[in-house]
Amino acid sequence: MIHKQTFPNYMQMRQRVPQTVWQAGRFLAIGIGYGLIILSFTRPEAALFIFWRIIVPVLPLLMFVAPGLWRNICPMGALNQTPRMFRFGRSLTPPAWLKNYAALFGIILFVVLVPTRKELFNTSGPALGVLLFTAFTMALVGGYFFRGKSGWCATICPLLPLERLYGQTPFIPVPNAYCKPCVGCVKNCYDFNPALANMADQQDTDRRNSHFRRLFAGMLPGLILGFYLIPDPPKINGLMMYEWIAFFMFISVGLFLTLETVFKRSAFRLPTLFGAVAFNYFYLFNLPVLAETVHQLFGIALPLPVLWTGQLGIFVLSAIWIYRTYRKESLYQRLTASRHAQMQVSLVQSHSIPVRGSKAG
Ligand code: SF4
Repeated sequence: MIHKQTFPNYMQMRQRVPQTVWQAGRFLAIGIGYGLIILSFTRPEAALFIFWRIIVPVLPLLMFVAPGLWRNICPMGALNQTPRMFRFGRSLTPPAWLKNYAALFGIILFVVLVPTRKELFNTSGPALGVLLFTAFTMALVGGYFFRGKSGWCATICPLLPLERLYGQTPFIPVPNAYCKPCVGCVKNCYDFNPALANMADQQDTDRRNSHFRRLFAGMLPGLILGFYLIPDPPKINGLMMYEWIAFFMFISVGLFLTLETVFKRSAFRLPTLFGAVAFNYFYLFNLPVLAETVHQLFGIALPLPVLWTGQLGIFVLSAIWIYRTYRKESLYQRLTASRHAQMQVSLVQSHSIPVRGSKAG
């Protein structure tokens, strides 16, 4: 049934979790984050294990199921919003080049960092520590200079492309618990309305964001397959490893563009399909990693049928996700005749929430 709250933005959703709980979660996340950085230098093996064999394999599932939960407690987000919370930031408006190309910068960062895992971050604790420290510092500095989340979380964070793709139809909606009030820092804001942000991109007269997001979705399955199928250095020359992964991404984008041309699907549907394929590829390789982690931590060897059941669960979850995402588009199309849906999308696009009298940045 369609009603006026079909696509509620975060201010129209009920905040079920008290702010104090979010604050405690953020302090904990920042503590764990910096603890991990220290561990990266003092006990690198432990840090590498925690980060690559526990946090990273679990994170995409969290982004898929309850992205708002992650957005509300991510340590980078918490650091980014610290100046705003304690009112010592500059609250500047980002320059036009940053606003226009932020999505592309985030994608480039992601695409460069992921293969570099194989070369460096997978095996070097100090390199991982430096990476995390740099990301944390950039998030904090971005939050100091720019208003809202426009200095990191809503612009150049390398995780944002993944969050926007996997988190576009949350199974468990968790509203943004930061922006009180919304200061309209970016357009087509994911935190403002996760369900409509990508559709707002598609309908934007400036096509750049839409193209960047389609490009990311198109290459993601290739990036993941290349990452796991190409051997790690030193089994392969480092440059050749990058070239092979780029080749996988190139094939993936080529397939995406071919399907788009042949089937003329909406610019919304094919990225969704490719996002689901990428998600399945990721867990094809990471469920065994998680099983190995369970074995090492608890001494429990998960039998193969358990892993197959897990992979089947991922497949079913992503199939439901595709159905819900496509249905959302149909719902939106039926609603576009109504003033409510137009208003919701224009709110996301124009980021024009009145903030008169507010000094919050
Ligand atoms: S546009 Fe509003 S909701 Fe989105 S990050 Fe900026 S302040 Fe927060």
